[in-house]
Amino acid sequence: MVDVVVVGAGLAGLCCAVRLEHAGLSVKLLEAEDAPGGRIRTDQVEGFRLDRGFQLLLTGYPELLHQIDLKALRLRPFTRGALVRHGGRFHHFADPFRGSLGAALSIAVNPVVSVGDKLRIARLRRMVKHDDPASLFKKPEITTRRFLEEYGFSSKMVDRFFAPFLAGIFLERELATSSRYFQFLFRMFAFGDAVVPEKGMEMLPRQLAVRLRSGTLETHTRVSAIGRNGNGFVLDAGKKGSYPARHIVLAVDDGQVRSLLGPQDGRNRPSRDLVQWNRTTTFYYAAEHTPIDGPLLVLNGDGPTAGPVTNAVVLSQASERYAPPGTHLIAANVVGRAPQSTPQIEQLERETRGQLARWFGADVARWSVVGGYPVAHALPLCTHAEWQQSNPRLMEGVYVCGDYRETPSIQGALASGRRAAESVLHHAS
Ligand SMILES: Cc1cc2nc3c(=O)[nH]c(=O)nc-3n(C[C@H](O)[C@H](O)[C@H](O)COP(=O)(O)OP(=O)(O)OC[C@H]3O[C@@H](n4cnc5c(N)ncnc54)[C@H](O)[C@@H]3O)c2cc1C
Repeated sequence: MVDVVVVGAGLAGLCCAVRLEHAGLSVKLLEAEDAPGGRIRTDQVEGFRLDRGFQLLLTGYPELLHQIDLKALRLRPFTRGALVRHGGRFHHFADPFRGSLGAALSIAVNPVVSVGDKLRIARLRRMVKHDDPASLFKKPEITTRRFLEEYGFSSKMVDRFFAPFLAGIFLERELATSSRYFQFLFRMFAFGDAVVPEKGMEMLPRQLAVRLRSGTLETHTRVSAIGRNGNGFVLDAGKKGSYPARHIVLAVDDGQVRSLLGPQDGRNRPSRDLVQWNRTTTFYYAAEHTPIDGPLLVLNGDGPTAGPVTNAVVLSQASERYAPPGTHLIAANVVGRAPQSTPQIEQLERETRGQLARWFGADVARWSVVGGYPVAHALPLCTHAEWQQSNPRLMEGVYVCGDYRETPSIQGALASGRRAAESVLHHAS
């Protein structure tokens, strides 16, 4: 019998298992898939590195400071600001999260952002930089869209910049996500950079996985049931056998928690309601020439009527290791859709390519598709956000963690895994 079995080797489970082992406990980490990483995996296809859904790391995430060796990841930053496609043209939008007021003059004629908007951004930036994360999560909570409107931003600024920019982060277009989380993210952009590890996002979970003792992680091991075993538990993993443990940590989504634990009494319910999932699809294209210079996010400032693409980026401009020499890798992201059948995926790809051709011209016809990732369970919809308040201890011996318990992000997954480990250590001693 081990001290703790952790189920699920996404970031939360990895981080939890590493901490528990570091504290001297015996740990098993069971993962259903063929490798750790959960929602952060990188496939290698014909020399391209394809993250399973385009993602970014924000270096401002507080949790990274204590848990991740950022230097070892060899981070590659994206250029601050964005290129907004609107009205048949691209408009360069200089860093909205750090820009100086002086820059307001140069954007006075910009159709996306007015001087008034620029001043409001400066005010918001001062506010989020002044308050620490915990206080931002105590502020009144409304939807992000309503917050932006009540803050006085023009509809041009909301529709042409904030909506596509934030949709790409929240992975939902309505901006129904909590205004507290939006303000936290604004702070992250004001303080840090948006980056990818040189060799793909998977380097992040891999860094945690290599800290585990040999034999701790077992892949291809799907836990199908959990029973009581005296003062502890026994986890059934089919052909892989059963695993007795004194404590268990479920680092899986809340649907899995419910199905593994069975119906709980009201006091011990894993969460009030099952989370709703935001969906997204990333198509990856190989191209001989880059359509834009530099690692700059291109935003659809015309809205969904212009096509399905929310944003696009040339990943090989951030890190040349994402594509073989002499080629480029473009990621085009469609927020809100994740078709599952091949004909539907192909249809969405055609629509995506059509829109990219309107943006970047005839060369797009020569791009080849190197991957398509429709992710139906990409991010938990976050309409209510608190700063590290949820209790990871569900009942005696049973703990839960995962991004859905904190904020829908790498920050949330890491914080949640750390807090679950701390709770186990507190109660196990
Ligand atoms: C397309 C996309 C884009 C994103 N963009 C960003 C971004 O730009 N910035 C950001 O900060 N975050 C982003 N995220 C979110 C971030 O990736 C997640 O918040 C984080 O990876 C969640 O980690 P987790 O450990 O909570 O859950 P998961 O990664 O989902 O881990 C759960 C693990 O449990 C395993 N499991 C489930 N059931 C069982 C079982 N019964 N037995 C054994 N194992 C089981 C699963 O296989 C999985 O490995 C994005 C996510 C996606 C999908």
